[in-house]
Amino acid sequence: MKKLRYLMIHCTASRGGTAEDVVRLHRNVFKWSRVGYRIVVEQSGKKVVLADVNQNCIVEDEEITFGAAEHNAYSHHICYIGGIDEKGNPKDTRTPAQIKTLAKIVYQYVDEICPEVLVAGHNQFHNRGCPSFWVPTFCRQIGIDPKNIYEADPFGYSKILK
Ligand SMILES: [Zn+2]
Repeated sequence: MKKLRYLMIHCTASRGGTAEDVVRLHRNVFKWSRVGYRIVVEQSGKKVVLADVNQNCIVEDEEITFGAAEHNAYSHHICYIGGIDEKGNPKDTRTPAQIKTLAKIVYQYVDEICPEVLVAGHNQFHNRGCPSFWVPTFCRQIGIDPKNIYEADPFGYSKILK
């Protein structure tokens, strides 16, 4: 087990779908032994918990989900449905309800689950658009304490995404 370091935000890079579709893709198509995300936020704003956790700063082995290779042992992954335009390019497609739910989840982590956690986007770890918006900006917009905002930008997505 490791200390929880990152609350990492993702998108499904799909035009729609449900949390159930995510489970089917990861377990039945990819044949992963675990799902990729702990929580999925559907377009209605509904929060679907795919993997329960112990509500503290320790990531037990059985709590691990497969959201970002090499960073899973100390991360919790949350994901919203969407994140691409009709051509498949990265686009922030979050509905107002999804933004509200994502903010609520982030507040809960910072205020209750793990006050030292760093909130981050997948694109701060791997060179890909996911989650199609710049998470540090989002965190500032919703009033997250700067000490909880991960600022690293190794691939320059802060200049590409809003
Ligand atoms: Zn991702």
